[in-house]
Amino acid sequence: GGEVRFEDVSFRYDQRRGILRDVSFTAAPGSTIAIVGPSGAGKSTISRILFRFYDIEQGRVTIDGQDIDAVTQASLRQAIGIVPQDTVLFNDTIRYNIRYGRPGATDAEVEQAAKLARIHDFIVSLPDGYDSMVGERGLKLSGGEKQRVAIARTILKNPPILLLDEATSALDTQTEKEIQTSLKEISRGRTAIVIAHRLSTVVDCDEILVLDKGRIVERGTHDVLLAKG
Ligand code: ADP
Ligand code: ADP
Repeated sequence: GGEVRFEDVSFRYDQRRGILRDVSFTAAPGSTIAIVGPSGAGKSTISRILFRFYDIEQGRVTIDGQDIDAVTQASLRQAIGIVPQDTVLFNDTIRYNIRYGRPGATDAEVEQAAKLARIHDFIVSLPDGYDSMVGERGLKLSGGEKQRVAIARTILKNPPILLLDEATSALDTQTEKEIQTSLKEISRGRTAIVIAHRLSTVVDCDEILVLDKGRIVERGTHDVLLAKG
């Protein structure tokens, strides 16, 4: 499973102009598609619609052929894992923050996810209890470290669909490169929808959609779009 489909989706927040106009795309199970476009193009709106924060005005959105209106919030959240741009962590231990991805996971499973996300050192090198409180009373994590916690949480959750909403755009170039590698690893075998500002930051996608003022203005592979300029 893991097919995501938008069919002629139109949307507006209020009575103003259309924010999305006739947006259609299919992310096949296991594929990676990128949605690229300038600020205000409507990229985040697509992710909000996928989570049913808003109802569309026209068109159809399906997951594995099922209309998302007919999917419960609980199963939507099960099906889609999001790695956002700015990860907000709970004021608790890193273990707690990772385990949130799948309450009931064993310590060994939490540690395995932490290893894959390369945040393992933070949960083993400090004594338990004091260990690694996040927030005011504890560790100050960098943006990249927070993203690693978010990635570990998503690994533990193991969703068929990943939504990466400018997941590394708040990071410096070196950290971005490192996190990008982790993101590519966890995208393997899942459907991934990558939201990005710039074409140049998108790597290894099956299809790229260029969104501008709510419309898909170009679509194709990386090579084809770069050749067009
Ligand atoms: P992007 O993610 O590509 O930067 P967004 O999807 O966030 O774009 O926004 C698309 C357009 O919708 C923008 O013009 C933005 O100002 C507008 N917009 C976003 N959120 C709201 C909202 N809650 N109410 C009204 N307009 C909004
Ligand atoms: P900037 O704000 O610097 O332009 P973007 O908003 O374009 O950055 O961010 C691009 C996002 O897409 C980053 O989170 C990057 O890590 C991610 N990304 C690009 N290609 C892939 C991929 N194939 N798999 C997973 N993540 C990807």
